[in-house]
Amino acid sequence: MGAREPGASGPPAGSPGGSREPSAGLSSGPILGAELPPGVRFVGPEETPAPRWPLPDAPADDDIATCVACGLCLPHCPTYRLTGDETASPRGRIAAMRAVAEGRADVDLAFRSYMDLCLACRACEDVCPSHVPFGRMIERARVQAEPLQPPGVRALKRLGLEVVLPRPRLVALAAGLAPLARPFLPRRVRALVPRGRAGRRLPRLAEPDGEPRGTVALLTGCVQDRWFREVHRATIRVLARNGWRVVVPRGQACCGALAAHHGRLGAARRMAGRNLAAFAGAELVVANAAGCGAHLKGYGELLGAEGEELAGRVRDVLELLHATGIEPPAGNPGFTRVAYHDACHALRAQRIREQPRALLSQVPGLDVLEVPEGDRCCGAAGLYNVLQPAMADELMRRKAEAIASLQPDAVASANPGCTIQIRAGLRALGLDVPVLHPIELLDRAYRAAEG
Ligand code: SF4
Ligand code: SF4
Repeated sequence: MGAREPGASGPPAGSPGGSREPSAGLSSGPILGAELPPGVRFVGPEETPAPRWPLPDAPADDDIATCVACGLCLPHCPTYRLTGDETASPRGRIAAMRAVAEGRADVDLAFRSYMDLCLACRACEDVCPSHVPFGRMIERARVQAEPLQPPGVRALKRLGLEVVLPRPRLVALAAGLAPLARPFLPRRVRALVPRGRAGRRLPRLAEPDGEPRGTVALLTGCVQDRWFREVHRATIRVLARNGWRVVVPRGQACCGALAAHHGRLGAARRMAGRNLAAFAGAELVVANAAGCGAHLKGYGELLGAEGEELAGRVRDVLELLHATGIEPPAGNPGFTRVAYHDACHALRAQRIREQPRALLSQVPGLDVLEVPEGDRCCGAAGLYNVLQPAMADELMRRKAEAIASLQPDAVASANPGCTIQIRAGLRALGLDVPVLHPIELLDRAYRAAEG
């Protein structure tokens, strides 16, 4: 390809300036470029250095190339807003990925820290005029940086994300042991671990009254199923009330979102593979946790065509109920002022904003309140609130104060991570405000009318 040794001087052999005899019949005048002034040389194409990604599952060159470094995302990035550092911005993080992809930098501790501080909230993706797919880029960048995590963090993540989460029985065991472990946990982690027990198993099948309008399979997930099973019960009741037959496939696993967000794409693929089998043949797959729904809808990127097919059948429960219509509730759930919290993985990743508000606006006597700067991440972000406590606590404090400024009776939150974070934030302000899933509010509204 004409590549040259760096520092070589003079024109390459065979180039227009190479040493050649004039062809017969041509003028015997000087050959163009044969004699160059001292210090001047032809510059040929140089070899592009190899990318320095240490592992497979690296951010794709085409994805990196979509960023034109315009900076429009910066004011929307929570970590940039709090630090003012370019390296804590989407543009800075992509520049770091580009430097590695172009062989100008290594995946080192600095790279890891830039990626670790990202919330993967995808606010940047939402506003980017070039449609940078930042969500999948950060997941892959974290795979690369994972071997540089401290050994204790790696061991805990391996245990939690690769050993426990894929196995519902181990998840149940871990949840059962949580009350015993609670006194030994650091205070801020203790404040985040939910209390309560899952209660009896969910039914395999729930039939609606009358002719069903269709059948949906419910994703139960891990955290949602162990600590928020009442959300599943409310989901099943509301779906059945509105004409849906609900099945709960037993072979399903955690959706894999936590593993994917924290540098463990291999484990995420294994869990996704189990769900492909568990939900094969389901007409629709319904998720009621925003993070799980967003991740299921991204199975195509993880698993290719098979994953894409499943992703096409996934609906968030509020999205489904809004699209197909509900029986307007006749009662009130006991709250009049409800602050609505937008989970990033509903708002950004699934573009679900109006649907829950429209459903809740049908509840008599219930006002949906808009949280100031409501599109800002609450800082939960999977394990972020454990792994990045300073940033997470600051975001939690801001979110809790914004909610508190509305003086609500209740908060609606459709993601378990956000619910845990907001409950902790409100408690830290000395407030005892219930944080419920919107489907629980609908369920309570139906039940209130029944007396
Ligand atoms: S991510 Fe998008 S908005 Fe941000 S700098 Fe790159 S092109 Fe601009
Ligand atoms: S995902 Fe969120 S925290 Fe990460 S760069 Fe984008 S806006 Fe910033």
